[in-house]
Amino acid sequence: MSNQMQPIFILPEGTQRTQGRNAQRTNIMAAKLVAETVRTTLGPKGMDKMIVDSLGDVTVTNDGVTILEEMQIEHPSAKMIVEVAKTQENEVGDGTTTAVVVAGELLKNAERLLEQNIHSTVIAKGYRMAADRSQEILRSIGEKVTEKDDKLLKQVAMTAMTGKGAESSKELLATLVIKAVKRIVEKEEKGLYIDINNVKVEAKVGSGVEDSEMIEGVVLDKEKVHAAMPRVVKGAKVAIIDSAMEVKGTEADTKISVSDPQQFQAFIDQEEKMLRDMVDKVTSTGATVVFCQKGIDDMAQHFLAKRGVFAVRRVKKSDVENLSRATGANIITNLHDLTSKDLGFAGTVEEVKVGDENMVFVRECKNPKAVTLLLRGGTSHVVDEIKRAVTDAIGDVASALKSGSIVAGAGAPEMEVARQLKKFADTLSGREQLAVLAFAEAIEVIPRTLAENAGLDPIDVLTELRAAHDQKNKWAGINVFTGKVMDAWKAGVLEPLKIKTQAIKSASEVAVMILRIDDVIAGSSHGGGGPDMMPPGGMGGMPGMM
Ligand code: ADP
Ligand code: MG
Repeated sequence: MSNQMQPIFILPEGTQRTQGRNAQRTNIMAAKLVAETVRTTLGPKGMDKMIVDSLGDVTVTNDGVTILEEMQIEHPSAKMIVEVAKTQENEVGDGTTTAVVVAGELLKNAERLLEQNIHSTVIAKGYRMAADRSQEILRSIGEKVTEKDDKLLKQVAMTAMTGKGAESSKELLATLVIKAVKRIVEKEEKGLYIDINNVKVEAKVGSGVEDSEMIEGVVLDKEKVHAAMPRVVKGAKVAIIDSAMEVKGTEADTKISVSDPQQFQAFIDQEEKMLRDMVDKVTSTGATVVFCQKGIDDMAQHFLAKRGVFAVRRVKKSDVENLSRATGANIITNLHDLTSKDLGFAGTVEEVKVGDENMVFVRECKNPKAVTLLLRGGTSHVVDEIKRAVTDAIGDVASALKSGSIVAGAGAPEMEVARQLKKFADTLSGREQLAVLAFAEAIEVIPRTLAENAGLDPIDVLTELRAAHDQKNKWAGINVFTGKVMDAWKAGVLEPLKIKTQAIKSASEVAVMILRIDDVIAGSSHGGGGPDMMPPGGMGGMPGMM
C-alpha cells in the first residue's frame, strides 16, 4: 500500500537548512555578536584588542576593521557585517567601529519588533525611510570646510587619532598628515580630487614617534642588493620590473644531467651569458636604477653593480605601484619589452640609514604629488598601531576636503539624527512609525557606547544629551573625560560628514538585507559549518549575548 507519504528530498544529503524565524534569529544573533565584539573599542576611552593568529603573531589594536579582518569570521551573516566595516574603510578610511555597532543595534531593535509580530518587510521599509531621512538630516547639520581651514583640518586629524596608540604625539602627527594631504590635492572643475594612495605610510621601529617625518617622494623599507652599487644616484632613470632577473631552473636544488665537465662549463657559461644579456638590456635603455618586484640573481647583481646601476629586489607590489605613479615609469613584465620610453625619473635615489637599518629614499620624483610619511616608534606593535591611526587621519582629512563638509563628533550628530528622526516618526502612522522609532533609538547606540566605554552612566548622560539637543544645541556631545555634556564643536572634536553618512548608509543596508532573509541553505561542503554554528574557536565565549 502506498498511501503513506514518502519524504521528499530536494537538496543533497548533508545540506543544512534553517527557515523562518529561526533563520532570522540566528542571523541576527551572529550579526549582533560581531558588533558586540568591537563595541568596547569605540571612542577615546575604548579598549584595545589583542589578536593572536595561528602563527602566533600578535596584533594589538583598537581599529574596527583590523580586528574583524584578523578574526577570520566565518558565519555567513556575520561576514556580511564585516563587509560593512570594509566598505566603510574603503569609502572613508575611518568610522569602521561606528558602522558595525550601528548595524548590530539596528538588528537588535528589529528583533524586538519581530517579537511583536511586525513583519520584517514592514521593518525593512521603515528602516529604509529612516536611513534616507538620516542622510538629509546629516547633510543639513554639516558645516563647511576648505583647504584654508588649517585649524579645523588639524582637529579632524587629531580626532581620528584620539585614544589610539598615537595619542601622545597626535599634535605632531596631525601636522604631518595635513601637510601630506595638502600636497596631493588636485583641483578639478568639479572640486578637489584626492588620491590617498599618493601618501605612502611607512613605519620603522626605533627612536620615538617625535622623529616621524614627511618625505617628498617614496620611501622603501629595503636596501640596494649589492655593496658595490652606488649609494646615491642623481638624475636617476628608473626601470620598474615585476618579473625575476634570474635564469629559470638553475636554483641549487635543480638536477642537471651532464656527461662531462666541458658540458657543465658550457652550461654555466650559457647561464652567465643570459644574465649578462639581461643586464645589458637594462643598461642599453639608459636605466641607472632598477626596482624589481621579484628576485635578482647574484650574478646579475654583480653585473649591475659593475655598471654602476643601483638595484633593489623583492619590492612589495604596492610599492611597485607607488614607484610607478611617482616616477612615471611603466611596470615591465617581460624584460625584452623594456625601452627608454618606459623609464621613470627621480632627482635622487639614495640609500639612507634610518635607525639601525637601511632604507631607500626616492626623491624629487617626476610626480611631485607622491609623498611618504615615515613613522617612528619604540616597538613594532607601537608603530603598527600608529600607522593605523595615521592612516585613519589621512582618510578623514581627505574625506573632509573632498566633500567640504564636517560635523562635530562625541555622539552629537547621532543624538541630533535620533532627535529629528523621532520628530519625523510622529508624522507617520502605525507600524512604520514603530520601525522609524526603532531606527532612531538604534542610532543612539553611539553616544550610549561612548558613555559606557568611559565608565559613565549611559542613562544619565543620554538624558542630559537629549535635553541639550531639545534646546537646539546640535553639537552637544559627551565629554568622556569629565562625564559632562559639552559643545563638541568648540571642544574641537571634528569628523568628516562622510564618516557619518556612510556608516548609517551601509549599516542600514546590511540590516535590511539580513532582515529579509528567511531561509538559509548551506551545502555540506561549505567549510564554515552550518548556519546554526558559531565560527570555530571564535566568539562562543563572548559575554552579554542575546
Ligand atoms: P571608529 O572606528 O568608528 O572611528 P573610534 O574608536 O575611532 O571608532 O571612535 C570614534 C568615535 O569617538 C566617534 O563617535 C567620535 O566622535 C568619538 N570621539 C573621538 N574623539 C573624541 C573626544 N575627544 N571626545 C568624545 N568623543 C570622541
Ligand atoms: Mg576612528
